[in-house]
Amino acid sequence: MLTALPNSHRLARSRVATHNNSSGAGSPAVAEAAPEQQVVPLYSGQRAVVVGAGPAGSTAAMFLARQGFSVDVFERRPEPKQDAVDTGRAYIIILIPRGQAALKELGVPLPSQREFITKGTVRHDRKGKVGISREEGNVTFSRSSLAQYLIDQARQRYPSQITFHFDSACAGVNIEQRQVSFSAAGGGQVQRSYDLLVGADGAGSEVRRALQQHYPDMQVTIDDSGREYKVYGGVRGDIEPEEFKKDPGATLHLWSSDDPWTTVTAHSNPDGTYSGTFSLKTGGFADLRTAADYEALLRKKFVGVPDDWVPAIAQQAAAATPSPAGKRVRCSRLDGPGVLLLGDAAHAVTPVFGQGANSALESCKVLGSVLAEAGGDASRVPQLFTSARLADMYALNELDAKAYSFFRRRGLLDPDFLQLLSHVLLGTILSKLVPFLYGPKPALLKLGSTTPYSTIIAAVKRDSLMAAVGFAALGVWLSFKLAAKVMVGA
Ligand SMILES: Cc1cc2nc3c(=O)[nH]c(=O)nc-3n(C[C@H](O)[C@H](O)[C@H](O)COP(=O)(O)OP(=O)(O)OC[C@H]3O[C@@H](n4cnc5c(N)ncnc54)[C@H](O)[C@@H]3O)c2cc1C
Repeated sequence: MLTALPNSHRLARSRVATHNNSSGAGSPAVAEAAPEQQVVPLYSGQRAVVVGAGPAGSTAAMFLARQGFSVDVFERRPEPKQDAVDTGRAYIIILIPRGQAALKELGVPLPSQREFITKGTVRHDRKGKVGISREEGNVTFSRSSLAQYLIDQARQRYPSQITFHFDSACAGVNIEQRQVSFSAAGGGQVQRSYDLLVGADGAGSEVRRALQQHYPDMQVTIDDSGREYKVYGGVRGDIEPEEFKKDPGATLHLWSSDDPWTTVTAHSNPDGTYSGTFSLKTGGFADLRTAADYEALLRKKFVGVPDDWVPAIAQQAAAATPSPAGKRVRCSRLDGPGVLLLGDAAHAVTPVFGQGANSALESCKVLGSVLAEAGGDASRVPQLFTSARLADMYALNELDAKAYSFFRRRGLLDPDFLQLLSHVLLGTILSKLVPFLYGPKPALLKLGSTTPYSTIIAAVKRDSLMAAVGFAALGVWLSFKLAAKVMVGA
């Protein structure tokens, strides 16, 4: 999916759903399911509780059920297809091979309709210049349709093992007694005992809070993307470039402005309309009160957003509430006695590289391997999970922070930008000159694949060091040459 240096457009992935109506959300036609890898259920008779029915929670539930667990999934919100607030806030998630690998292992099929298949991205720069990048092998969902799709798959595949409880918010965890309590929809509390508790309750995780209380030395760092977005929809127009007009499929349009925070995105919908997001620096929406304020800003900041879209976007944005566009979470451990964290609860990242949901699904796949390794002893699973996943999660966090720093346009001398740039430049040269030694492309361009994040960050650091040493050596050589010339002249 990543075909160039990280840039501001990646962050502008804050975009609204193509398929976010309730019926479409849960029922895409699916390709033939890959055969599920057969596993011996090692945990029959044991109970798992999953907190959160987002992409990570439902996928984790399937990995647990496949190994024999009886699983209860508790979700604070209503079921996505019945939740107007959830669908109204939904942005696009592109599932790349990294995330798809988890579903493949479970035998969960991907949607087969062309409109779910990502064709590519059209970038409209601040001067109105258009650039196109094609994508292959990726599938486009809205966050809510992906969540609903995985809930439906979990129910279908493990009807007697997985039970979903909606409108049930985790209210506390008693880690010593292995009990978790939920405030139920109609009032009152529900308690559950567990052999294994999975915290998949997003960046503001309650389960993580309980772990922090249990381990006062546990370190959790949360950075905010500093951005908010509002959604709009239902606009029409002939905006596809010739290259994308031929075949059906999902396209994404990104309009940038003269500041990195202010962007407009649009995503093609199967019914011929476009939906999208309008993003500003956090707090920026407070200065805009009326639709006329929005319209004035949109006209001032953007070239190429269709003229007749501007009043429609302005009106819808003026009536909407802003949502935060992502956080970055780093935890010094992902486990406690009988408890583990995964997905955004453990390792949220900003949307800059489009890795959040994909890394969440990859974590579920790692959980699947750890369950096999623990051989039926649920008490071993959490610690094994931290050992298997923590290094990659630190690496992902570091990559995201570097890319985000570049996105904020701190300037050409920003060390994070220079590190990423030198890795990509040197890596591109070496991959052409000595592909048998270096490999086919710079590691940063393999984020979409299943290459471990720790391998990618190690390659970024190694290449940038090599480039710095090479540059310094060149500088010394040139100085000697210059000095020699001066001396001869004298
Ligand atoms: C604007 C934007 C654009 C993005 N674009 C992409 C992209 O292109 N590609 C990509 O891979 N990722 C993207 N992401 C990130 C992606 O959305 C998340 O990484 C992904 O949803 C994480 O899944 P999750 O299940 O871990 O967490 P979540 O999706 O946050 O789900 C957590 C669930 O837990 C529930 N919950 C929370 N607290 C409780 C509680 N106390 N009790 C019970 N339930 C609770 C929540 O209601 C929620 O349903 C984007 C994010 C944003 C904000």
